[in-house]
Amino acid sequence: MFERDTSIYADRDALREDYQPDTLVGRDEEIDTYQSALQPVINGEQPNNIFLYGKTGVGKTASTQYLLSHLREDATRYDDLNLAVQTLNCDGLSSSYQVATQLVNGFRDEADQISTTGYPRSTVYEMLWDEIDARGGTVLVVLDEIDHVEDDSILYQLSRARATDNISEAAVGVIGISNDFSFRENLSPKVRSSLCEQEIHFPAYSASELRSILRQRAEVAFRDDILEEAVIQLCAAYGSKDAGDARQSIDLLMKAGDLARDGDAEEVTVDHVERGRRELERGRIKEGITGLTHHGHLVLYALVTFELEGETPVRSREVRPRYTRFAEMVGRDPLVPRRMRDHLSELAMLGVASVRERNEGRRGGTYHQYELDMDPGLTIEAMRETVEEVGVHRSVQDYLISADSVETADYSLPDSLTE
Ligand code: ADP
Ligand code: MG
Repeated sequence: MFERDTSIYADRDALREDYQPDTLVGRDEEIDTYQSALQPVINGEQPNNIFLYGKTGVGKTASTQYLLSHLREDATRYDDLNLAVQTLNCDGLSSSYQVATQLVNGFRDEADQISTTGYPRSTVYEMLWDEIDARGGTVLVVLDEIDHVEDDSILYQLSRARATDNISEAAVGVIGISNDFSFRENLSPKVRSSLCEQEIHFPAYSASELRSILRQRAEVAFRDDILEEAVIQLCAAYGSKDAGDARQSIDLLMKAGDLARDGDAEEVTVDHVERGRRELERGRIKEGITGLTHHGHLVLYALVTFELEGETPVRSREVRPRYTRFAEMVGRDPLVPRRMRDHLSELAMLGVASVRERNEGRRGGTYHQYELDMDPGLTIEAMRETVEEVGVHRSVQDYLISADSVETADYSLPDSLTE
C-alpha cells in the first residue's frame, strides 16, 4: 500500500524548524560579535551576559545553536574547562516561577523532577542555585523567546547571581533572546544593565540574503533540477515582504514542495508557490481569528468592509458606526468607544491589522489609523460565521461577485447590508 516517494525531496527534514544548517549565510557580522561575547568562556573567565534581539525568523536561535555547539566542542579541548549549557525556550511559560522550575528540571535527572506548582518561589530559586553550584565550572543558561515571560524576576536573579552570593561554585552567564523589540525597554533598569552587558541586534534579512539561505537549504532538501529558478525568488520575496523572515520563506518552500509531491509533479513550480502561499496565509488568518471574542469578530468584520471599499486606513471613530450597527444586527450591546478601540489594538497586536500613529500637528494631537493586514478574501472566508450571522455587507457582496473566487463562491447571500 505504501511506497516511498523520492522524486521531489532528497531530505525533506532539512526544511523543518529543528534542522540546524552547517553554516549560516549572511550573518557574519552578528556571529563575529556573538563569538567575541562568548570568548571569555573559553578563556575560563567569568562569562558575559548576552542579550539578543530581532524579529522572528532572523536567525537568533540558529546562530545561538551554531555557536554553542562549536563552543561546547572546543571547550572539550581544555582540561580545566567544565562547561554546561542549559537551554530553555520560554514559549508557553509566562512567569519566572515556571522558568525556574523548568530550569531546575533541566539540570536534574528524569527520576528527580520537581512539580511545576506548589513550592514557594524562593524555594525553587534555592533549588536552582543548588543545581548550578553542583555543576560548578561554567554554566550558560540560554532563555530563548524570553519575551513570553511577564515578570523579570528570574532575569534579575540569574544575571546577578554572582553579585549576590547565591552562587559560589559556578560562573554563570545568561543569554536572553527576544523576538520583541520593546522587551528590552520594559526591563527594570537594574536588570537591563546586568543582562544587557553585550547586546546584539539581528536585523531583518534582505530579499537577496533570503535567496542565499533558500538556495543553501534547497540544495540539501530537494533533488537536483527540481526547482524552477523563480521558485526561490518568489519564496524569498514572500519572506522579505514585511518581515525579512527566513522561517516564512523556508515554510513556503516546503509547502510548495509538498504540493508538488502530492500532485505527482516533476518539478516545483511558481504555481505551487502561489498555492502554498494562499494555504499558509489561510492558516495564519484562521489562527489570528479563532482567539478573538465575539465583539472582536464584529470589529474585524467592520474593518474588512472598509478595506474592501478602499477606505483604509481608518480611524476608530470611523469604524464605530458600522461596528455598532453590526452589533445591533446580532442583538448585542455595542461596546463603548474606548473598549471598541481596545479591540482594534488587539487586532494590530495579533498581526491581523496594522496600526499607524498620525500626528495632526500642535492642534490635532495624535491618533491611530488602522488597516487590514491580511488578504480580505481569505479573512471573509475565515469569518464566515460572523458574516452569516450579521448579514453580508454590500462591500462583501461586491467583492464576492467580482472576485469569483473558488473559496467564497458558494456563499449563500441573504439580505445584503447597505449603509
Ligand atoms: P529566530 O530565532 O530569530 O526567530 P531562527 O534562528 O529560528 O530565527 O531562524 C528561522 C529559520 O531560518 C530556521 O530554520 C533557521 O535554520 C533558518 N535560518 C535563519 N537564518 C539563517 C541563516 N543565516 N542561514 C541559514 N539558515 C538560516
Ligand atoms: Mg528563535
